[in-house]
Amino acid sequence: MKKFSTRLVLWHELHGRKNLPWQRKITPYKVWVSEIMLQQTQVVTATPYFKKFIQEFPTVKSLSKATPDQVLKLWSGLGYYARARNLHKAAKLICSNHEGKIPSSINELVELPGIGRSTAGAILSLGFKKKAPILDGNVKRVLARHFKIEGNLQASSTTKQLWQISESLLPSDRIDIYTQAIMDLGATVCTKSNPLCSNCPVNQDCSAFKEGLVDTLPLKVKRKSKLTKKVLWLLPQGPSGEILLEKRKEEGIWGGLWSFIETEKKAELELALSRNFDSNISNIKKLKKVKHNFSHFNLEAIPYLVKVKKGKKIKNTVWVNFKNVESLGLPAPIKKTINQITMP
Ligand code: SF4
Repeated sequence: MKKFSTRLVLWHELHGRKNLPWQRKITPYKVWVSEIMLQQTQVVTATPYFKKFIQEFPTVKSLSKATPDQVLKLWSGLGYYARARNLHKAAKLICSNHEGKIPSSINELVELPGIGRSTAGAILSLGFKKKAPILDGNVKRVLARHFKIEGNLQASSTTKQLWQISESLLPSDRIDIYTQAIMDLGATVCTKSNPLCSNCPVNQDCSAFKEGLVDTLPLKVKRKSKLTKKVLWLLPQGPSGEILLEKRKEEGIWGGLWSFIETEKKAELELALSRNFDSNISNIKKLKKVKHNFSHFNLEAIPYLVKVKKGKKIKNTVWVNFKNVESLGLPAPIKKTINQITMP
């Protein structure tokens, strides 16, 4: 029987994905940006974002010169905004410490913000054609099934074992094709549910397939139920219909993005209103609740719309409507709410 890697490389020739936007005129930079975008995100969702991002920032240098707002604007709606902030920070570091060239060693790569061992492995193997293993979620699933790894995938001992296996499978040539092939196998054949084992190029020696364990591996760990965070949003609306947004602090879930003034208690909301505007709670209109799910909690926000006269300039705020909403970095639920209110 041919080696695991040889079978995957041969399979990739016929069935692998070869036309993804980051695979055209491939560079380490494109691999890096795509790998970051694809964390927690499906290819189909990431694709238009990737195209716009590369068009705007074709090189590390151009990204390093951007403002945080320009970067976050292009990430708007994609979620997990720390990825964008780290990408931007890392581009600046690459320019200041590596003469604008993405480093080609694992140690230097993992020093950069947002780059873990698996992302570094992908940059090295796909971008530089250097021998380096990867271990993203899809690859973990393939290896756990194929080699019957029954431990919890979150446990460090299991991760260590999987890294060793991933490393031991690396071919000495065509490393880029092999890496893409194992990624593609996990994404299109050895899928989370209903894997297509009969079409799998490595099914002859797959332990899970032979022993009927495909549905039980990898081990499913019960998720803790998510908490719901309830907040209130204040939406001051100026005479021409535009809404006031404030910039969030760098840290936190929507760090650096523009959002509504947020409070937990109604009294704080009233205080924000009376402090900054010549208006009070009697002019306020309660809007439909907005729900949004994050990976670790659910958000429930009640927006309160209040007509105000534009008064004194408030630090870190901006007035927006449907016309200029695209020019800022906004979380998807904020953008949607503004459009609903300000569209004629
Ligand atoms: Fe995954 Fe099935 Fe292939 Fe095994 S045979 S690696 S379980 S798709």
